[in-house]
Amino acid sequence: MMNTSNHTPLNWEEIKNNLACVKKQGIRQFIYQYKKHKDRRDDPLYWGDEIEYMIVKIDDEEKTTKLCLKAKDVLETLNKGNIGNPAPLWTPEFGGYMVESIPERPYSDLLTSISKVESSMKERRKELTSVLEQDEIPFTLPSYPRLGVGYFAVPPTKLNPQNGTSRSWFSPDDVMYKGRQRTTSIHQNIKERKGGQIEILIPGLVFGAGCCGLQTTFQMDTLDEAIYLYDQLVNICPIMLALSAASPVYKGYLSDIDTRWPVLSQSFDDRTDEEKGQKPLKKDRFRIQKSRWGSVATYISPEHYQYNDTDIVYDKDSYEELKNEGLDEALSKHIAYLFIRDPLFLCSETLDQNEDLDIQHLENINSTNWQTLRLKLPISNTNTGWRVEFRPMEVQLSDFENAAYVVFVFLVTRIAVAYRLNFIIPISKVDENMSAASKRDAVLEEKFYFRRNIFTDKSKAEVKVTQPGHLQSKNGDEYCQMTIDEIINGNVEFPGLIPLMKTYLKSKCEETDEGTNRIINSYLKLISDRASGAEPTTAKFIRKFVITHPYYQQDSIVSDTINYELLKACAKKSDGGIYLLDEDEVLAAEMKLKRGSGYSVVPDVPPSVATLRFNLLNES
Ligand code: ADP
Ligand code: MG
Ligand code: MG
Ligand code: MG
Ligand code: MG
Repeated sequence: MMNTSNHTPLNWEEIKNNLACVKKQGIRQFIYQYKKHKDRRDDPLYWGDEIEYMIVKIDDEEKTTKLCLKAKDVLETLNKGNIGNPAPLWTPEFGGYMVESIPERPYSDLLTSISKVESSMKERRKELTSVLEQDEIPFTLPSYPRLGVGYFAVPPTKLNPQNGTSRSWFSPDDVMYKGRQRTTSIHQNIKERKGGQIEILIPGLVFGAGCCGLQTTFQMDTLDEAIYLYDQLVNICPIMLALSAASPVYKGYLSDIDTRWPVLSQSFDDRTDEEKGQKPLKKDRFRIQKSRWGSVATYISPEHYQYNDTDIVYDKDSYEELKNEGLDEALSKHIAYLFIRDPLFLCSETLDQNEDLDIQHLENINSTNWQTLRLKLPISNTNTGWRVEFRPMEVQLSDFENAAYVVFVFLVTRIAVAYRLNFIIPISKVDENMSAASKRDAVLEEKFYFRRNIFTDKSKAEVKVTQPGHLQSKNGDEYCQMTIDEIINGNVEFPGLIPLMKTYLKSKCEETDEGTNRIINSYLKLISDRASGAEPTTAKFIRKFVITHPYYQQDSIVSDTINYELLKACAKKSDGGIYLLDEDEVLAAEMKLKRGSGYSVVPDVPPSVATLRFNLLNES
């Protein structure tokens, strides 16, 4: 993103007057970039994570904790040695108490690169800790439990609901990151555009944007592969959201949701009453079904077009223009859907742009469509190609857990590509999965729509069904409802993602070493246990901590003291990073998989490695 710190941001009225022109230029920029990069080939598989932290001050004498509004100073110190680096490792986020980090360089497709993920995360946490005071701790927790309650930040903040940028009754402007015009403008303009204060049923405004997430980006070798992966990950999003659930407390109350997603979705909802369908359409152009922060609206591949079964609005002019330039219907709709949104941040200096040299108007729209996935464009004159960003996950307390989730998603992409898997179901069912994913203990209590047969004609796997006929669905449905345990660990009819990963890893054993295998097994064990309920989600841990706390009054209130003790417990968990399994545990985990899955998967591998046939049922 271009540095706009000395530019002059436009206010909402001014943005409105320039919308048509800016959008037109944005579409032209997309068309130019598309044509330039559509035939790009052979980009290596690169990938990496993004982790967001909140800085919290712990007062052991007063038994209280406060958010530290010092991100700006912290970032200056952290990036000192980094000046001129085009991609700083430490970047600002919405909150003045938040910072974000990425690994020093992206990882490769080598399985051994997996062993670098957790150590990079630990290194980064150490680096951040080293520039903080003794009593300040970086937490990787999605939502700060008492954000917006009383004296919750240092230095103390003042509410300014009449004139402040966020005009929030609960959360003062000081909480927002200073010196980042983009953040402030975006928030101001979301409200101006919508024509009223933001309503979040968990009350307040900064509550969504101030949450920390865990993201992963994967570069694919071609645009087609990036689109294939994007589509395959669409329904993995709700599953990973539920599995990573870690935020049940907001504004000092235990809520009835386990993830930050619904809060974010309400925070970034800039639709007007007309767009939401609450008033007849007069001034606005469209009825819009979803907030800017939401689940993916469409599959992008023409092959999956028929699964786009929800009504989606799209910008007709943009759509026609894209089609006329030779883009297919599905990709044109995807882009035209992004362009129903208005830019939320514009500067007078960069208003008029070239369609070939600039990409800012395009990026401005793409990067403020906060969907579960994002297709990122190549960057000209660099080795950065077509990328897919996976965005739904909640950040976990420890680096071990964060590494486990990130690596798990990496392995999902590997098995999808290797076996040409197909996870596509109607997008309306993905929406239902997204709603289910945030519910309390969704991982155990909810069922999720998933494709019954994930193998395709192109699958490089030969599937043997142990109880013949089972996969043939009773009514021909391509999908059914499963528990997350079944999706992850398998059942008699469905192979399960982890058993498939194990099959894949065995076929690749020449690429790994014992150390990496142990690390991967420990990650898969965590995900498997979270899916089965053997290990509680972070949300469940937090909920239980609050409910069983002796001071808890059964009134949903998470008091200052309970919060302090909860954060102390979280800090302890953050440090307890190492979770390597000993041999017995690995064996037990595999036994469990064998019992759980009556399914056998025999990959079609070259003869030299054919001896590695992995049959979950019959292997002794
Ligand atoms: P954004 O905030 O726009 O989503 P960031 O720069 O914060 O992006 O994070 C990008 C992530 O993508 C990092 O984890 C980084 O390691 C990774 N990454 C960087 N270059 C590539 C690439 N060429 N392909 C895939 N991932 C990359
Ligand atoms: Mg980032
Ligand atoms: Mg971020
Ligand atoms: Mg970002
Ligand atoms: Mg990101």
